[in-house]
Amino acid sequence: MLPVIALVGRPNVGKSTLFNRLTRSRDALVADLPGLTRDRKYGEGRVGDCDYIVIDTGGISGDEAGIDQRMAEQSLLAIDEADIVLFLVDGRAGLNPADQMIADHLRRNNKECWLVVNKTDGIDPDTAMADFYALGIGQPVAIAAAHGRGVTSLIDEVLAPF
Ligand code: GDP
Ligand code: MG
Repeated sequence: MLPVIALVGRPNVGKSTLFNRLTRSRDALVADLPGLTRDRKYGEGRVGDCDYIVIDTGGISGDEAGIDQRMAEQSLLAIDEADIVLFLVDGRAGLNPADQMIADHLRRNNKECWLVVNKTDGIDPDTAMADFYALGIGQPVAIAAAHGRGVTSLIDEVLAPF
């Protein structure tokens, strides 16, 4: 059984960009429109010698109704299916109330969870990460999914026990 990595976080933090990088595909739609990926999307990838399955989700925005609620449900299902959750936040936008809501859910869920601060290209990663300690998920990891920075070492570390 391959380890399953779920990408969760509010819309527009870069989940689909990371999914594409982890699967080396253009399959997940990437766009400036928040909420474009509505359903769970599965891909296979490999970093070094490690194969894995990765799940992209639409995201949880915190004011769910209608289609947003469906997206949020898909995210919760993906968390259930995963061995590892990568909780993405936006290092440029800073801490957001929806991030806090997702963090609360993940803490209750007891899943192996990594806090990933994305979009740290061109900004100081330590400054970008500082806000997010308040989420209580532990030590954040800075990446730039669009450029691949930090992605291989993150996956190496995350998959080490598998
Ligand atoms: P999702 O809604 O969480 O799936 O986010 P997307 O992957 O669709 O990305 C949302 C926006 O953020 C797009 O315009 C991406 O190009 C941009 N983005 C994603 N990763 C990065 C990054 O590492 N750096 C920067 N500067 N922008 C990024
Ligand atoms: Mg997406």
